[in-house]
Amino acid sequence: MGGVVKRAFKYRFYPSPEQAEQLNRTFGCVRLVYNRALEARTRAWAVDRQRTTYVQTSAWLTEWKRSEELGFLNEVSSVPLQQTLRHLQAGFAAFWDKRARYPRFKSKRRSRASAEYTRSAFRWRDGELTLAKMDAPLDIVWSRPLPEGAQPSTVTVSRDAAGRWFVSLLVEDPTVTPLPPVDAAVGVDAGIISLVTLSTGEKVSNPRHEGVDRRKLARAQRDLSRKEKGSRNRAKARVRVARIHARIADRRRDHLHKLSTRLVRENKAVVIEDLSVHIMVRNHCLARAISDAAWSELRRMLEYKAAWYGRAVVAVDRWYPSSKTCSACGRLHPAMPLSVRSWTCSGCGAEHDRDVNAARNILAAGLAER
Ligand SMILES: [Zn+2]
Repeated sequence: MGGVVKRAFKYRFYPSPEQAEQLNRTFGCVRLVYNRALEARTRAWAVDRQRTTYVQTSAWLTEWKRSEELGFLNEVSSVPLQQTLRHLQAGFAAFWDKRARYPRFKSKRRSRASAEYTRSAFRWRDGELTLAKMDAPLDIVWSRPLPEGAQPSTVTVSRDAAGRWFVSLLVEDPTVTPLPPVDAAVGVDAGIISLVTLSTGEKVSNPRHEGVDRRKLARAQRDLSRKEKGSRNRAKARVRVARIHARIADRRRDHLHKLSTRLVRENKAVVIEDLSVHIMVRNHCLARAISDAAWSELRRMLEYKAAWYGRAVVAVDRWYPSSKTCSACGRLHPAMPLSVRSWTCSGCGAEHDRDVNAARNILAAGLAER
């Protein structure tokens, strides 16, 4: 194990007015190219039953840039436009593989504004980053150092709904090394009341303050809905809502980072349930939607950290009846409503906490699969 791994380092930066304008224009072009290509691909499939390739979409882009209507696409770097077509291609590949839903249009309001630059579209010199079509380097707040001698291979610039600017640098990080071997393995059950429950019996709660933040968010959203459409106050209220959203997301990410690092550090294998996106999208309940989003993010973190440190993440089949099976004797019980938090096995008399029992079964299934 070991070797060099790629790792993203994310920082805030403060663009000059000209840079902000250039980036906003780039975001707009990226969104337009993505949506146009998605529309054309959808039409090609619906009308002609044709699967479009990345190369074809790239040829469309060349045509669009030559047209009078879309000539303005030449005013921004072409690399982010190409990259968004690659992402769309990856989205379709995942859809064909049944790993994801059909790609959706990027909305100005709801999608994260971002642009991805590869090596040919930025200059990295003496710790300064200058993007294509710009004269001056970005004013980046280096909140933590890049690894010694790191060379970014990809740079992603984004702006969140609260108006904050971020740049993420993907670099090869030679400092990550596998952790010392351990023998423990853990099963993880995704919950609603607890964030996750472990097969060790531990329940990991949601981030602190989240309840308070959510109440503040609800109040800010009510406030927003009462403001007159198109007014300045409405714009201000919208930024307030976005700020609270951003704070919740930041705290949650921080919490998930700590949890995933700990699980990977302490265990040679982390066993999780393979919850598919198809199940998730059918859930309209807010609490469920939030916990599903957290779950996907936790899984993603566990997987890349396991790869860094030479650990394993095992996903067990989502149809495995983990909550209905007694983890002590293996007897399968009838389905239990979610309100049943603890139960006694009629086979062996074992008393179970619903979630701990599920986590134990997930662990056993994962170890059997390995
Ligand atoms: Zn039993």
